[in-house]
Formats: sequence, structure tokens, C-alpha cells
Amino acid sequence: MAFHRFKALETVLSRTPVNVIMPSNKLSEIFGANVFGIDAMREYLTEDAFKSVLSAIQEGTRIDRKVADPIASAMKSWASTKGATHYTHWFQPLTGTTAEKHDAFFEPTEGGRAIERFGGAQLVQQEPDASSFPNGGIRNTFEARGYTAWDPTSPAFVIGTTLCIPTIFVAYTGEALDYKTPLLKALSALDKAAVDVCQYFDKNVTKVTATLGWEQEYFLIDEALYNARPDLVMTGRTLFGHSSAKGQQLEDHYFGSIPERAAAFMRDYEVECLKLGIPVKTRHNEVAPNQFECAPVFEECNLAVDHNQLLMDVMDKVARRHNFRCLVHEKPFAGVNGSGKHNNWSLGTDTGKNLLSPGKTPKTNLKFLTFFVNTVKAVHDNADLMRASIASANNDHRLGANEAPPAIMSVFLGSQLSSVLDDLEAKVKSGKMSPDEKTALKLGIGKIPDILLDNTDRNRTSPFAFTGNKFEFRAVGSSANCAGPMTVLNAIVADQLILFKKDVDSLIAKDVEKDEAIFQVLRKYIVESKKIRFEGNGYGEEWVKEAEKRGLSNIKTTPQALGAFVSKQTMSLFERHNIMSEREQHARYDIYLETYTKKIQIESRIMADLAMSHIIPTAIKYQSSLIENVRGLKEIMSEADFKKSGQIQLAMISEISDHINIIKTKVYEMTEARKKANAISDVKKQAIDYCDKVKSYFDIIRYHVDKLELLIDDENWPLPKYRELLFTK
Ligand code: ADP
Ligand code: MG
Repeated sequence: MAFHRFKALETVLSRTPVNVIMPSNKLSEIFGANVFGIDAMREYLTEDAFKSVLSAIQEGTRIDRKVADPIASAMKSWASTKGATHYTHWFQPLTGTTAEKHDAFFEPTEGGRAIERFGGAQLVQQEPDASSFPNGGIRNTFEARGYTAWDPTSPAFVIGTTLCIPTIFVAYTGEALDYKTPLLKALSALDKAAVDVCQYFDKNVTKVTATLGWEQEYFLIDEALYNARPDLVMTGRTLFGHSSAKGQQLEDHYFGSIPERAAAFMRDYEVECLKLGIPVKTRHNEVAPNQFECAPVFEECNLAVDHNQLLMDVMDKVARRHNFRCLVHEKPFAGVNGSGKHNNWSLGTDTGKNLLSPGKTPKTNLKFLTFFVNTVKAVHDNADLMRASIASANNDHRLGANEAPPAIMSVFLGSQLSSVLDDLEAKVKSGKMSPDEKTALKLGIGKIPDILLDNTDRNRTSPFAFTGNKFEFRAVGSSANCAGPMTVLNAIVADQLILFKKDVDSLIAKDVEKDEAIFQVLRKYIVESKKIRFEGNGYGEEWVKEAEKRGLSNIKTTPQALGAFVSKQTMSLFERHNIMSEREQHARYDIYLETYTKKIQIESRIMADLAMSHIIPTAIKYQSSLIENVRGLKEIMSEADFKKSGQIQLAMISEISDHINIIKTKVYEMTEARKKANAISDVKKQAIDYCDKVKSYFDIIRYHVDKLELLIDDENWPLPKYRELLFTK
């Protein structure tokens, strides 16, 4: 252990906030300063090269190898003015973090000279020796190479002295080994499907972009205390710890004034983020003590994903400068709120319109209704896949707990929109709607956003909620790469929109008028997706029963949830839109299962280690001092007095013995269960075994350790306690 608990506490109490030197420029002036964005490109690139990059960004065209050279050279010149000496391809392997390998711009040659080496070839493609990244068996060792390829839709940036070039990461044989590749494909499928549907309403739309605004929750813990908790260091969460007498029950932290040290950290990382073009805007305290949130202005989905990955990295680095550790784990503390990452999602057109924003005209509102109902239908038809997209060992602790969305997928629409859908269902059913009725319905929708945006009709317990002009996928975990859930959401909506167009066109072919055809198809979807709609309290026990009655899944654990990734339905969905092949999906499924197993395995080992070598020895030491005390009492007291006064000590001694015995037995049994699980070669069976037979010991071991925490002399307890971790400022 790096620090004794009390030394760690002393260190914390003596800290003063790190003085942040704020840039003298206005924040708007430093925004994007370290990004090779449109302005920098215009300045550094030739006319041809600039056009070529722009069309790659806007239309997804390939960049000709011939212009790659001048682009690389311009990028390097620009990066040098920012102090960059190295470059790296920056990518998002399935480890969940980002990866980079830095190369110097120059290369030494004979005679002690050096040449500059960063051309088009280096920009466009690299071959990292990536055999140690998760690949789910896709890359056999003989074809261990993978390559990274430049993604021009996300601009290059400089961090420190390194030029970072966002890239995709694929196997030598072409299969995706990262989060970005399938996301880009899903986004392009969505673009095409949505543009086609837009033609019913507005012929000027030629591009539809999915937009994403995430809200990142996190905890800040002092580094000295963090270092004194091996469980936090190794697993990102506390495996033991009795809840402190004061937790979040007074609700005094939420939106309260931000503590000075935390505020200094925020100012510092926000400046770093702004320089990187991440439009961070909102910051506030969250519900739990020492829990905070950061949210940016929304952006194009792929860019927003990159920016969230970058943000987590920047936060981690800057936190260390402030003697903090930034925890993005979904559930660092039992009994205290966990952290999520709400994904606000919508669709924007190149005509500047938000397709999920009802407007003032009937036509706009029919368009809105179309995208709205299709999204609900897509989620209804793919609820299990949506659940799978947010499944992780960490998130299992949070989902279904009384503070986070349940593991049951449902959609919240708000009472106004619900009644619009009910209305539409009833009226279209009873024959043709009169033109007046249609207009009235469409106009009625126009009044809804003000009400919804007004916050009065919002439900906080739904995993997927409509919030006025966007959907909010709230079940996403705080440490997740948003690309996972965003790939799924964009893919299922793309698929649904294609189906919608087919359905409407076939009615039009039968001479049904366009508006009427749209209404009829929407009505059909409203009926078919009814059971996914839920406006009540998602945290309540009644909802679990009601959901079961409706036939909705309630998949509680990750190994079970992941199954939806390899269902026939998902396989064919991703194949159909060329997002992932069956092989890629199977590989990914295996990787997710393996990751789950490894996480539980590590937690189980750390737990056993802490229990056996930290907790039990401390308990025994304290128990010995009690025994010594009893001996002394016996010596100095009369037998009658001892009978009266010695009982408490004797009871404590046996209570401690009981806890020690149970902890020891359970740790032994858990270790045996682990051995058995380790011998299983099938990845799915192994993950399920880890979930059902190993993880099941966590609660009981923790219960007894936490009881000991209350019994043992505070001075001897080895681990910083919850009240110290969460309240020492
Ligand atoms: P809250 O939900 O906390 O009340 P807001 O409604 O202001 O806050 O927005 C929360 C998040 O939603 C922000 O990150 C914002 O960027 C994002 N957001 C707003 N509009 C859109 C949109 N059209 N597409 C995607 N995200 C959006
Ligand atoms: Mg929100």
C-alpha cells in the first residue's frame, strides 16, 4: 500500500487547490486552437487539397493518394507551429480505451543526419503491430498485422507534442477491430435511409447527420486516498466499504456550489478540451457526494464519440495534476448513486433542420411524426439489441438499481405525444381522417416542444426518453464508448426507415394518396410498438411485473444480454447494411464476453487478496487486544463483577470470530469456483459461470467485511472509509 490510511488523510487535509493559470485570451479564442480544422486547413492546404478533404468530410469520397502527400506535409507544418515533434494514429480498439503509438516526424539516416518523414503514406495508413489488441480470434498469429486508416471526418489534433490522427482499426483481412468502423458504416446507412424518407417532405435534403450530445458523469477522489485503496486502483470501484452515516440523503450536493479544488480541476480540463475543439459547456455537481457532470454542445455523432473518448483521457490526465483521480466507473461506491453517460441523439439535415423537432407547419410536423414513430418502432423491434449495446460488467451494478434506468427497455414519450399517437391510432382506424382532422393533428404537435422543453413533463427513470427535440438514451454507462450504443441505434433506425419507405411506396403504388399512406403506415407502427411505451416510474417494482405481463425482456446480467449481438435478427440486420459481417459480430461477441470474465476474475482476486491479507489480519490483531483485555479484567475483577462486565468483550470476540470464519470460508469457496470457471473453454459458458457462480460470492463476503469495519478500532482499519473518500475535501 502506498500510504497508510491516516497518512493519506493528513496529505489530503494539507492540500490547497492547484493554481490554474488561465489563458489570457477569451475562451472562444482558444476554441479549436489545437485542431487541424476547417480554418487551419484553408490556411495550410492548397485549393485542390482543401476541396478534396472537404468532400471527403461532407460526402465521404476517397482522398486521392496524390493529394495525400501535400495534405500530410501541410498537416505537419501546422502541427510544428503547435510544438509537435511526433505523430500518431489515434484509434479505439475494443479494449474500451484509446490507443496511440508515437513516431517522430524525422528519421535518423547515415552520417548522423536526419530526414523528415511524414508523407501521404504515413498519414493515410499505418500497420501497428497490434496482435495484442482484442480480436476475438479474427487475427491468427500468422496474419497478426492490422492496419489503421485515416478517418478524415474527424479532424487531426495536437496533444502535448504529438499530432494525433483519428483512424479506424481493421484486421489485415479487412474485419473491423475497433468501435469506429461499424459506427461510420451505420451512420452512412442512416444518412441514406433518412434522406430517402425526407424526399416525401422536402426534396432539398441531400444529407442527414445523426447528432450526439453526451453527458459525462464522474467522481473525483483525492489521489492519496485512492492510492490507499487497492480495489479502486485495480478495479475502479470499491469492493468493500460500509456506507457512511451521511450519504446523499440530504441531497445537498446536487447543483450545490462546486468545491474549490474540484472547480480548479474543471477550469483546467475545460481549457484543454476547448483547445481540442471539444465544445464543453455545462458543469455541475451530481447527486452523490464528490460526483459531477460535464456536457458539451452536441455534434455530429462520429465526432462527438471521438470527443468523448478524448474527454475521458484529458480528464484522467488533468485530474492527476490536481492530485485527484477521476473515476468514470459506473458504480465506484455501493449505496451511492452510480454514473451514467446519457446519449442525447437526434437527426439533422443539411438544410439546417432537426428532424425530431416539431415545427410550426403541418408538413414539418408530419415529417417529425414520421421520424419520431419510426424511432420508437425501431427500439421496440430491437429492444434486446439496445440492451446488449449498453451491457458491461460495470453497468450491471447500476442498471435496475434505484437510481438508474432499469434493465427493461422502454420508451418515454410524455403525455402530450402519447395522446397524439393514441389519437392517430383511433382516428385512422375509424376510417379515413378528414383533411381538417389531419391538419388539426399536425398543428397540435407543433405546440408540444415548448411544453416538453419546459421540463414539466419529463420522466427521469426511463432508459430511452423523448425530451422535446431529441431522444435521450440514458442507460449508457459512464465508462462506455458511445460508439457501441450509437452504432446500434443508428443501424436500427436506418433499417426501420427503409422498411417505412417500402411500406409507404407500396400503398402509393396502390393509388393511396401520399399523406394518407404515411398516416396509415405510421398507425400500423404505433399499434405494433405499443408495448414498449411506458410513462410511469421505471424504478418501481410494479413496472417489473407490468413489463413481464407485456412480454418485455428484463435481462439482468451482461453474459445473457450480450446474446442479442449474435441473434439471427441482429446478424442479418448488420449484414444487410454492410455494417458488420457475421464473423465480425461473432468476434465482437467473444471479446465482450471475455472482457466480462476478466473483469469479474480480477475483482474476485482483489477481493480475496484484500480480505485475506488486509482485513482478516487486522481483525485478528484487534481481537487479540480484546482477548488481552478480557484476561486483564478477569485478573483484577471479582468473578461476579467479571460475569457482569466481561460479557460485552466476550461477545465482540466471538462476533469477530464469526465474521472471520465466514469470510475465510466464502473466500475459499469463491476461489474454488474460480478454478472451475477457469477450466471452461467455451467463452459464453465461462462468462455465465463467472456471473452466476463466482460473482455471487461478492455480496456475502462484502457484508461480513463491512460488519467488521464497524466493529474494529478505527485506528487500525487499513482502508480509507466511505466518509473519508467521499467527504474529505
Ligand atoms: P438536460 O437534458 O440536462 O435538461 P439539455 O436538454 O440542454 O439538458 O441537453 C442535454 C444534452 O443534449 C446536451 O449535451 C446537448 O448538447 C444535447 N442536445 C441538445 N440538442 C440536441 C440534438 N439536436 N441532438 C443531439 N443532442 C442534443
Ligand atoms: Mg439529460
